Amino acid sequence: LTYTRVWIPDPDHVWRAAEIVRDYKEGEPVLHLTLEDDTPLEYPVGPKSNPLPFLRNPDILVGENDLTALSYLHEPAVLHNLKVRFLEPNHIYTYCGIVLVAINPYEQLHIYGEEVIRAYSGQNMGDMDPHIFAVAEEAYKQMARDERNQSIIVSGESGAGKTVSAKYAMRFFATVGGSTSDTNVEEKVLASSPIMEAIGNAKTTRNDNSSRFGKYIEIGFNRQYRIIGANMRTYLLEKSRVVFQAEDERNYHIFYQLCASASLPEYKDLCLGNAEDFTFTSMGENIFIEGVNDAEDLEKTREAFTLLGIKEGNQSSIFKVIASILHLGNIEICSQRDGESCHVLVRHDLHLKHFCTLLGVELKQMEHWLCHRKLVTATETYVKNMSTKQAENARDALAKHIYARMFDWIVEHINKALHTSSKQHSFIGVLDIYGFETFEVNSFEQFCINYANEKLQQQFNSHVFKLEQEEYMKEQIPWTLIDFYDNQPCIDLIEARLGILDLLDEECKVPKGTDENWAQKLYKQHSVSAHFQKPRMSNVSFIIVHFADKVEYQSEGFLEKNRDTVYGEQINILKAISSQFQLVADLFHDKDDVAPPKSSRVNVRPAKSTPKAPNKEHKKTVGHQFRSSLHLLMETLNATTPHYVRCIKPNDLKEPFMFDSRRAVQQLRACGVLETIRISAAGYPSRLLQPVPVLLRSRDGLTDKELDHDMFQFGKTKIFFRAGQVAYLEKLRADR
Ligand code: ATP
Ligand code: MG
Repeated sequence: LTYTRVWIPDPDHVWRAAEIVRDYKEGEPVLHLTLEDDTPLEYPVGPKSNPLPFLRNPDILVGENDLTALSYLHEPAVLHNLKVRFLEPNHIYTYCGIVLVAINPYEQLHIYGEEVIRAYSGQNMGDMDPHIFAVAEEAYKQMARDERNQSIIVSGESGAGKTVSAKYAMRFFATVGGSTSDTNVEEKVLASSPIMEAIGNAKTTRNDNSSRFGKYIEIGFNRQYRIIGANMRTYLLEKSRVVFQAEDERNYHIFYQLCASASLPEYKDLCLGNAEDFTFTSMGENIFIEGVNDAEDLEKTREAFTLLGIKEGNQSSIFKVIASILHLGNIEICSQRDGESCHVLVRHDLHLKHFCTLLGVELKQMEHWLCHRKLVTATETYVKNMSTKQAENARDALAKHIYARMFDWIVEHINKALHTSSKQHSFIGVLDIYGFETFEVNSFEQFCINYANEKLQQQFNSHVFKLEQEEYMKEQIPWTLIDFYDNQPCIDLIEARLGILDLLDEECKVPKGTDENWAQKLYKQHSVSAHFQKPRMSNVSFIIVHFADKVEYQSEGFLEKNRDTVYGEQINILKAISSQFQLVADLFHDKDDVAPPKSSRVNVRPAKSTPKAPNKEHKKTVGHQFRSSLHLLMETLNATTPHYVRCIKPNDLKEPFMFDSRRAVQQLRACGVLETIRISAAGYPSRLLQPVPVLLRSRDGLTDKELDHDMFQFGKTKIFFRAGQVAYLEKLRADR
């Protein structure tokens, strides 16, 4: 071993620095080490114990702002370098090749002011410290230089800082690409954030302002690269939160904002009160967020609405819809003595009255259809009582449906406000989307999120791979085929014909389909797949081997969540709303129920034709819609030059500048940073611009004596080195 400084695995710190103190010969069972505090350690090595430890980089390389400049490229090196930068000079940003790694500092840093934006504007990425503004500048510059659309893909787990990063990127564009006229279009673009956060963010145990939806926002530019408008698409709003919140979590911010403002005269009609008095806002048992004033935030939400040109009338309609959902949640459904049916005590139930008044629906109808449903057979139609449980489920489904419709309505109107008639020359898209997730219990939501991440990782791998290969060609060095992890088999398992999603849709159509039967069908169909496993101890769950980790999913609830059924009769009442409540009537118009995907370019496989059940609305399943929207997203991303930001949450305590190595490594593995490292380590990761006089005297000297032939290549403008070679040269130089 040329180098004596190594990394050994450690249960607490993941990796620990050590030094080899006695020469090691191949085949010996132990390595003699000392730890940093001089404790000696006999470290077992061999096929039955540990592999030989990783080598440490020379100190002069530690702290580099691009990890691919490291000579030894492996997990401990990456981790150590990020940690040193983060803790010592408080650098939260580091490049890892084309990826910007951003570690959440949990502290307001003074590195985001307008003067900093100006400083980054027009500069080259390599000349400046790594920064989200440098990535934004790069995208802006490449848009103009290559006449090509760009995208910035931000990912990371909950609380890692995606939304904050996405907002800084947008602020950068608004500042450097602000319009010269006085239309304030860039301000409008920024105003979409507070609105989307009010209706789509909530307090969770991980993040007080957690986005519960994914978002891709395209900022449009004209020929002069000035902002002229924007358009956004959203993904998978977590609807269940509208009717249920876990302990110490909250519903969407907007509900609390309204409740906190209930006593203002303009909100009298909403008949609201304290958020603690409504079922849908009090399940988490803590209606407050430290440092947040909900009443003040409502003012900000309203200002943003106004800035976007959403009229007062529409704003108050939106608030009516929100209030109606809270009243709906408080409607008490009482069991009848027979246990099979239920009723609502209309005379006592003020909430039912408020619900109906706010939305303009007929009270008698609503009362009836809250507790009954229509059944249609081949020969007749009859009305059936619902049990209390069924009625409650139906009520909750209705609440979720109303909220989701309102959410979409607002997105549509923000888009209208940000739409411009002037000609768009190009765009930069910013994607803020949930990262890979694995919990104790994983369900349909995690399944969809991880499926999305599988697709994004695929897009990322093929981009990195393509770039590497292009660089080798450009430099005319021999083709090195790099093998990289291909996500396609796992993606096929999920989305191909008879894949997991297809079988789920099938099962949803079978009259007596169940989650368990679906799981059985999965076992039968997919047990041969390398990415699918049946857990030994369970007959209802299944395991997918994702690129980031194995995840066990519980099948329970998949069918219901995929169907996302709302009872037609309840919707019919809402559809019958008179034009007096125009917005509400608009919300429930049929048009969207069977709307094709927004772009006609999408190549979605035609759904198999199935006989329509006469009493059910024909509706695409959630899985089906999600698959289509991901196809469209990938198509968009593939037509842009991508830039990647990976956000890392350094600890679970929201503690400023505290680095928990175990948590960091978990995320580096899950977000593909280590995979990128692996791809580059497989080729020639280190590049030096020629000539390199300090390091190498001459081409010949190098070839003859000091380096193995396979270890480097002379390109046209650069020398390419295999991993570890630069450290080796550094050592040679030091020894001379
Ligand atoms: P989620 O997936 O739950 O939406 P997220 O990745 O979008 O999470 P953010 O809401 O962006 O996470 O960040 C969580 C919190 O971390 C912020 O509210 C802020 O307090 C802090 N934070 C994130 N990035 C920064 C930063 N660059 N500087 C200071 N604080 C930050
Ligand atoms: Mg977020």
